[in-house]
Amino acid sequence: MKSAAKGARKPPAKAGLYRQLPSVDEVLRGAELAALIGREGQATVTDAVHAILSRLRSDISTNQVDASSLDVALSGLAGAVAHQVRGSQRPSLRILINATGVILHTNLGRAPLPSAALDQVQEIGRAYSNLEFDLTSGERGERDMHVDRLFRQLLRRDAGAGASRSLSLAKSTELARAAHPAPAAVSTIVVNNNAAAVLLALNTLAEGGEAIVSRGELVEIGGSFRIPEIMAKSHATLREVGSTNRTRLADYERAINGNTRLLLRVHRSNFKITGFTEQPRLDELVRLARRRNLPLMEDLGSGALFDLSAVGVKGEPGVLDSLRAGVDIVTYSGDKLLGGPQAGMLSGGSDLIARMRANSLFRALRVDKLTYAALEATLLAYRKHDYDAIPAVRMMRLSKAEISQRAEAVAKELQASLLSVELMDGESVIGGGAAPSATLPTRLLAVASEGVTAHALAARLRAADPPVIARVADGRLLFDLRTVFPEQDKALTKALFQVATE
Ligand SMILES: *Cc1c(COP(=O)(O)O)cnc(C)c1O
Repeated sequence: MKSAAKGARKPPAKAGLYRQLPSVDEVLRGAELAALIGREGQATVTDAVHAILSRLRSDISTNQVDASSLDVALSGLAGAVAHQVRGSQRPSLRILINATGVILHTNLGRAPLPSAALDQVQEIGRAYSNLEFDLTSGERGERDMHVDRLFRQLLRRDAGAGASRSLSLAKSTELARAAHPAPAAVSTIVVNNNAAAVLLALNTLAEGGEAIVSRGELVEIGGSFRIPEIMAKSHATLREVGSTNRTRLADYERAINGNTRLLLRVHRSNFKITGFTEQPRLDELVRLARRRNLPLMEDLGSGALFDLSAVGVKGEPGVLDSLRAGVDIVTYSGDKLLGGPQAGMLSGGSDLIARMRANSLFRALRVDKLTYAALEATLLAYRKHDYDAIPAVRMMRLSKAEISQRAEAVAKELQASLLSVELMDGESVIGGGAAPSATLPTRLLAVASEGVTAHALAARLRAADPPVIARVADGRLLFDLRTVFPEQDKALTKALFQVATE
């Protein structure tokens, strides 16, 4: 139907076309659908007929069909209905090829899971497990102890050098270490996502009181995570200090009053304030919090468990950096830089974590065994320093040379196609609330096709199986193989060949 629109003829007399459409009942009574209805049931087929007819109606309204293409569509109606029924019986959630170069793309499912995590999900999901059962005592256990033991090892504030190999855990400054000698063990609990972690922390620490936050940190993430709204739901009052671009320690200090319960620091995830800016250093905030006997919480968002400077990204603090600097509670996501399943972590001193656990919100926000299974396997990969086992981390570690080599191979194959293909330098984006400037040098495939707009090409690629998602820039499609699994290079090439000849 859609392809018939390419002729771009004069808009047809729509009323006449609408009149040609049969009613749902007429279609259902047709002899051709009897067998399908027998097999799949009246309701399923009726839904499919509704969908097909409404698509035709919308094609008419947008001038996508004329009299002759409508004839063709109507004569193939039974086939289209059968196709629609088959489609409705497949999952609508499906894999695709992410060629955007955005590693943690929220719309595309953020972190792809390590295969060990998927194996563990299978293993635990298919049978009973000791989720909340202590095999030693035979008594009830806690579901979070499975991952807490690993976080304890990964987040040892006093861990010395040599704690890791190729990608060292983030190191704190000597200054921060001196400020907090031999800190107590760090505990971690897990909730549904980082938004839930922030909600739980604010509600536990600041319900009925005030939390002080800098105006420059009132972030909105993906249009749905707004600190002020989470604050309201947690029954904590937001006390904004400073201005958007400048907040001084004295601003926090002045705002502290008898009702203050918490100092809150929020990572400026997806925006950057440049130019005339000022923000207290973390260690200054820590000292202020200690002096005034208030807890300091940091919503880190992405929360890396490895040193990002090892992949050339500077100034992006890791979870351990914050804890070592003396932050009392750190919240972060499981499916951003950590590279695991969707989850929200709260890491901090055992006393504060115990209070979070005792909050009935924790029960409402808890995660299921599949999340624990995937998270534990991901953390084990960190424990073994097996960073390449974590796809998101592996993608960050890919060198431009490796990507370039693969891009050249794809470009060579495409020489036989009708597409014009060029290689160019560009940047991959870490995404997922890492600093907006967190980019990695890459090599892009720039693809164009004579007579077809980049947007039309992009639409055809989205209709491929599996769908391919690329960036559109300057009238071309840009493909970044950093986020394409090497085993998908062939499928990507095939999809490009196909759309070139469509
Ligand atoms: C991403 C992000 C959140 C929300 O985390 P989810 O895991 O998506 O709920 C909250 N705060 C910051 C700073 C973030 O970057």
